[in-house]
Amino acid sequence: MTERTSQPSSPPATEAPASEARASGPLASGLRLTVDLTALGRNWKKLAAMAEGAECAGVVKADAYGLGIDRVVPALSAAGCRTFFVALPEEGVRVREFAPDAAIYVLCGFLSDLVVHYSEAKLRPVLGFRDEVEAWAGSMPGAPSALHVDTGMNRLGVTLEEAEALSADPLIERAGVELVISHLACADEPEHPLTARQRARFSEMRELFPGKRLSLANSAGVHLGPHYHYDLVRPGIAVYGGASHPFAEMETVVTAEARVLQVRDVPAGEAVGYGAVQTVHRDSRIAVLGAGYADGYQRAASAVGPRNARVRIGNHIAPLLGRVSMDLMAIDVTDLPEEEVRPGVWAELFGPHVAVDSVAAAAGTIGYELLTGLSRRATRIYRDETSG
Ligand SMILES: *Cc1c(COP(=O)(O)O)cnc(C)c1O
Repeated sequence: MTERTSQPSSPPATEAPASEARASGPLASGLRLTVDLTALGRNWKKLAAMAEGAECAGVVKADAYGLGIDRVVPALSAAGCRTFFVALPEEGVRVREFAPDAAIYVLCGFLSDLVVHYSEAKLRPVLGFRDEVEAWAGSMPGAPSALHVDTGMNRLGVTLEEAEALSADPLIERAGVELVISHLACADEPEHPLTARQRARFSEMRELFPGKRLSLANSAGVHLGPHYHYDLVRPGIAVYGGASHPFAEMETVVTAEARVLQVRDVPAGEAVGYGAVQTVHRDSRIAVLGAGYADGYQRAASAVGPRNARVRIGNHIAPLLGRVSMDLMAIDVTDLPEEEVRPGVWAELFGPHVAVDSVAAAAGTIGYELLTGLSRRATRIYRDETSG
């Protein structure tokens, strides 16, 4: 990152002109998300190295887990990623803008009324039932696709019996199937018996579909080891620094911050925020931060739940107080040094010191939901050391 400096010859300004004010940084007053694209690229390379021998794809559904397809796809391409998975064809069309030569798979399958979009953006549907395979073969004969085989999740995909029948059917070639995938239901609980059962069932695809590439592993599956890697791995959350990677440290990619708007004293016995759901039991000092559930910081993470979310301010951790409101949240800073908590100071809601998954857990959910629910109001700032 380079910083612009002013010309030495310019006269000393008493008041910064508007252009300089603009140069001081993007307008970010509410939730500020800093996305470290360099760390993202390193995470992807780490996963690719772990899966050595298999190709490593990038899963960029839901606008790259809330971080922005327009910035994440070029960063992953620069890191070496050549295959992307999205959920929807419109996401695939967007990825195509930024990855003209990549293979783009659409996990929701083939929606035949939208065939023109698949055709124009060269999208590859992941086909999950026989009629859908036939529809693709009929509309786009020979165009590449993938077949989804259900090995125990009972969501999308053909059954093992249907896979066996299809394997002997010329339809598979007319439909351009070149990749066979399945999805693990419990890969983040390695001891779960279903994980090994799914792997055993999936391994039968080697004999059923000789010459086709196979793919089973999501992020947690990459961490399960080489038996789960087959020909292609499909990590999502671990690329973004989320917690579904119990066996290796991924770097933090997203840091969410909000600034202190006001610091106030609240006498013992008074309640804080909507519903007066939390009363302070000592004379307290609270800081009110300028972000709330409208930014995607979940209301369920409020201090009244079983697990209280925390923020980091200065070098200290402070708990939430009362309910998260639409645009505001309060934290208890009674025990923090006064000089470190002033209006304008930024607090980390999640990032390198407060795990996104700990906030999600306080809200009774997972990091995936918190990331993909970050709202459009939040300002996204991208850092990329590789592109100056
Ligand atoms: C979302 C998804 C992935 C990526 O999962 P992570 O847990 O984020 O790594 C891989 N494969 C399929 C089919 C998916 O739906």
